[in-house]
Amino acid sequence: MTHADNLHPAELSLDDYPRRYCSACGRLVKKDFRPGPGGRPDAACPGCGSLERHRFLAVLLGLLRPSLGDIDVLLEVAPSRQTTPLLAELGARVHLRTDLGADNRLVDALADLTGLPHRDDAIDLLVCYHVLEHVPDDRSAMAEIARVLSPGGVALLQVPWRPGTVTDEDPDATVEERVARFGQADHVRYYGDDFETRLMSAGLSLTRVTPEGLLGERMCAWMKLRPDEPVWIASPSGTTPTRDLGLDTARLPSIWEAMLGQMVAHRAREDRLRTRLRRIRAERDRLRRRLPDPRPRPRRARRLLRRLRRRP
Ligand SMILES: [Zn+2]
Repeated sequence: MTHADNLHPAELSLDDYPRRYCSACGRLVKKDFRPGPGGRPDAACPGCGSLERHRFLAVLLGLLRPSLGDIDVLLEVAPSRQTTPLLAELGARVHLRTDLGADNRLVDALADLTGLPHRDDAIDLLVCYHVLEHVPDDRSAMAEIARVLSPGGVALLQVPWRPGTVTDEDPDATVEERVARFGQADHVRYYGDDFETRLMSAGLSLTRVTPEGLLGERMCAWMKLRPDEPVWIASPSGTTPTRDLGLDTARLPSIWEAMLGQMVAHRAREDRLRTRLRRIRAERDRLRRRLPDPRPRPRRARRLLRRLRRRP
């Protein structure tokens, strides 16, 4: 009897299940994840290159999809090779990709987030990850997001954020200072708690979700997510995203835990069966060695035998 036999599935360790799951490409990954930006360990999927935030975006889109319904216009701000395919799966009638400047990424329009070329209420889903910390006048950008969202529209936002602090910002800081204070040469701030008050002042109502809050600790480890990295689900004020989107998050961690427990239990059972199979094969080989030599007699000997038998 193995260690795993004595445990309830929920108590089994993730170590009993060596593969990890990439929610962006849907692969069960056996290899190690690669380092991410800044050498952060265990960040990039060896199959599709997704980072933690892309894998959590995949989870969020899966959860939000039923309530988002048919999406007419989707606006992807600062697209990436990891986010575009995930968003394309939503099947929006129009999928627009926009950025401030042209580089090697595919964009449909060059636009400044502080002056979007879209009419009011035009966008059903807007995804803006790691952009606002680059924009000197972020309050105008937030007001633009609120303006272009349709009444039932949703924006998914992510920024570098330190809870319990006040936003540290200086658009005039030198490059060295930006790297030291904001973590990157082209960042103009590091957001603190007032990120949320800024969004609300711009006319957005918010739900903040984190991988750990939504999925639980073990699921974060299994999917290689950063447990505390939040995403803000924003809607034009007057609608409450959680209720309107039907995102019943309270029960999710226990559902995931049960699912994961089952997987780990299956894995432990598989290991036990494999051990039994190895034992049976070894026994088979041992018995084979004890059998008499089954090789057929040479042809000459058989002929001689036939002749002898025919003799009266
Ligand atoms: Zn992947």
